[in-house]
Amino acid sequence: MKPAAPHQAEVEKRVAAEIQRVDQASQHGVSDWMRDRIRTRVTEDVLRSYAEPLERESPALIRRLERGDWAAATALVDLQARRHDIKVIWRAPSAMPKGAAAYAHPEERSVHVPLIAGVEQLATVHHELGHVLAGPCTRTAPHHQLVEGGFSHCAFCETLAWRHALEDFAPEPFLTAYHAHAARALELNRKRCRMTTDALGLLDAFVDPKILTTVRAVRAAGGRRAYFAAKVEQWRKELKHA
Ligand SMILES: [Zn+2]
Ligand SMILES: [Zn+2]
Repeated sequence: MKPAAPHQAEVEKRVAAEIQRVDQASQHGVSDWMRDRIRTRVTEDVLRSYAEPLERESPALIRRLERGDWAAATALVDLQARRHDIKVIWRAPSAMPKGAAAYAHPEERSVHVPLIAGVEQLATVHHELGHVLAGPCTRTAPHHQLVEGGFSHCAFCETLAWRHALEDFAPEPFLTAYHAHAARALELNRKRCRMTTDALGLLDAFVDPKILTTVRAVRAAGGRRAYFAAKVEQWRKELKHA
């Protein structure tokens, strides 16, 4: 069985309580249509409760990062992960398994990441969160897995994860630095991984600095409403198939 995303238990508990409350208050019981309405509303409420602390606190946290106060990075990542319903397991860099700076379990919506002491570590952590948003590797073209030292890499997933890191997580003032760091990391894949034509196309488009124009447009368009609508739809699907 697929492990439940962290929010599901909370949504289920609140939906059950609300259905019980409505059922007791009405003479005709709770119809399927009402259950559906309740689920949508509860999901939106839970989501909003996850997103609001980030929107409130991120400007001050990002100003601290600009001053080089890296303690703010951990707080920012915790709030971002909460908003996207991702579980973060923090570890000392020395406690990471050999050969891995960080890793993600997209199917469980969790990441294992090092404590942050600089912009490259912040980018690494955001890259792992990006793997969760990109979803599990489908292992069919354009994906292609390369297993190396007990870890698998997929050049296509790597590019997708960086794209999400830039679009969904990178603080605005660090966007250009992130892109340069990501492009360097991805160019290693070109030499190291066997890549499908589509994966190469995605990589070529990403490493071109012109991608930053698209990234900025996506960020500007991804306001609260679009985010809520997309996430509520996704959560409802996940809950139906849970
Ligand atoms: Zn993949
Ligand atoms: Zn990766």
